[in-house]
Amino acid sequence: MIERLLTFPLDEGFLRRECPNCLREFKWFGAEAEGTPDEQPTPEVYYCPYCGRAAATGEWWTPEQLEIAQQTLAGLAHDHIAQTLGRAIRDNRDSWISFELRGQRPPSPAPITEPSDMVIVASPCHPFEPVKIDEAWDQDLHCLVCGTLFQLPPAEPPVGFQKSDRIRPDSRGRSAGP
Ligand SMILES: [Zn+2]
Ligand SMILES: [Zn+2]
Repeated sequence: MIERLLTFPLDEGFLRRECPNCLREFKWFGAEAEGTPDEQPTPEVYYCPYCGRAAATGEWWTPEQLEIAQQTLAGLAHDHIAQTLGRAIRDNRDSWISFELRGQRPPSPAPITEPSDMVIVASPCHPFEPVKIDEAWDQDLHCLVCGTLFQLPPAEPPVGFQKSDRIRPDSRGRSAGP
């Protein structure tokens, strides 16, 4: 129930996660990606792309997300207590019990923002579950769904960048005539 009340910002559909084992951050796709087979069961564990350790799907919160969850819960608990006490006070209006509701509702958590960082990688075995990983990571990765190790594809030059751009035209190239 609480999970549905919590919304975290996404980066193009990707939700920031932290591995409970190696504490590195990555992002997994928050919604069901296109091309997911219908019969694909909802996984109970996911594997860390970096260290390959499995953990239950509910164990990947970042410290910021936990903080927000805690603050949201504190607010909800306060609302619930205030409501219950308020009702009790109303119901006991004529009795000798009298008490007053005091206390401030804990402030709602400040919204967090999700920068568009990291690079998208899809495993060959479960390509419909892409992840976003640290740009600096250059070792093999584990598939989020099954933990199988796979190699990163060789880095491609940025779009629009051609090798010939690196060779500046010089006088020899320009003026060489027959
Ligand atoms: Zn890990
Ligand atoms: Zn896989």
